[in-house]
Amino acid sequence: MSRDTGPQCKRCRREGIQLFLKGSRCHTVKCALDKRNYPPGEHAWRRGKFSEYGHQLREKQKVKRYFGVTERQFRKYYDKASRMKGNTGENLIMLLESRLDNIVYRLGMARSHREARQMVAHGNIRVNGRRLDVPSALLRKNDTVSPSAREKFCDLVKANIQSTADLPAASWLQMNAERLEGIVLEKPKREELPLDVQEQLVVEFCSK
Ligand code: SF4
Repeated sequence: MSRDTGPQCKRCRREGIQLFLKGSRCHTVKCALDKRNYPPGEHAWRRGKFSEYGHQLREKQKVKRYFGVTERQFRKYYDKASRMKGNTGENLIMLLESRLDNIVYRLGMARSHREARQMVAHGNIRVNGRRLDVPSALLRKNDTVSPSAREKFCDLVKANIQSTADLPAASWLQMNAERLEGIVLEKPKREELPLDVQEQLVVEFCSK
């Protein structure tokens, strides 16, 4: 299945939570969820309560949409998480958090996952000093992330870092704003995911 390129605010309204898909706009009063906090669609009000399956599906969609991955990619992460030791739900979140595009976003170098993915795919991001244009690459402890040396791109990254400075930072990452270099200090922490999701329901959905 291809990537969903439809209206982004509709996805937040469908899930009933902020997925932060539109960059700085998401942190202003212009957020569509503030104005229209109900599901999209003409007959949205008529729909009844969710079934158990419906709840599980919505939790899975929240995670998938927040990280901007396709269904196929999501299933691969789930398969990998289920083969790892420990809690499958936490492993799944940890894998998704370790993606290069997510780390670029969480470091504040991009204002949204979409912008971060584009930066990486266009070859503007370096990992450990080398260009890496694979948004799904999984980073590990002590990996460093920096922008390419292009002056215009560095200016964009600086502006993004400044505009996201007030947002809560992930303690497992550290950004050196002067050197424009981020580092992965440790494994991602589940409790720091800025998304209200019950990963156990995601696991129940995927394990059927
Ligand atoms: Fe739109 Fe962002 Fe608000 Fe979601 S969080 S509804 S993408 S403005």
